[in-house]
Amino acid sequence: MTRLKKGDTVTVLSGRDRGKRGKILTMFPDREAALVERINLVKHFERRTQANQPSGIVEREAPIALAKLALVCARCGKPARIGVRVSEETAPPPALGPKGRLAPKGPPSAGKARGGAKHRICKRCEEAIGG
Ligand SMILES: [Zn+2]
Repeated sequence: MTRLKKGDTVTVLSGRDRGKRGKILTMFPDREAALVERINLVKHFERRTQANQPSGIVEREAPIALAKLALVCARCGKPARIGVRVSEETAPPPALGPKGRLAPKGPPSAGKARGGAKHRICKRCEEAIGG
């Protein structure tokens, strides 16, 4: 499973575009590859058409292996080692029942199943990354 997704800013770890950065335009999870803005450009020869001017050689992104990409942390600006943090902030506070007592709790598992959105974090600076 990849921890990258569309819209992430990534840096290229190896190959021709090593060190360059770009934004993920499209993910191909089943191919373990992605299209990244201005990365892994290949030349296409295009016939001149009314919709496509000027004619000639155009450069397009080609899919690059996810293994060659690393997410860039917006805070420390470095390729991030990604961790996953499960937040407990989304769980609602315990509701007060009549007379200010805590309302009876449901089964212990109920709260865990509901709350706990997963966030990707930079292991270097602990900053949450992306959405
Ligand atoms: Zn960071």
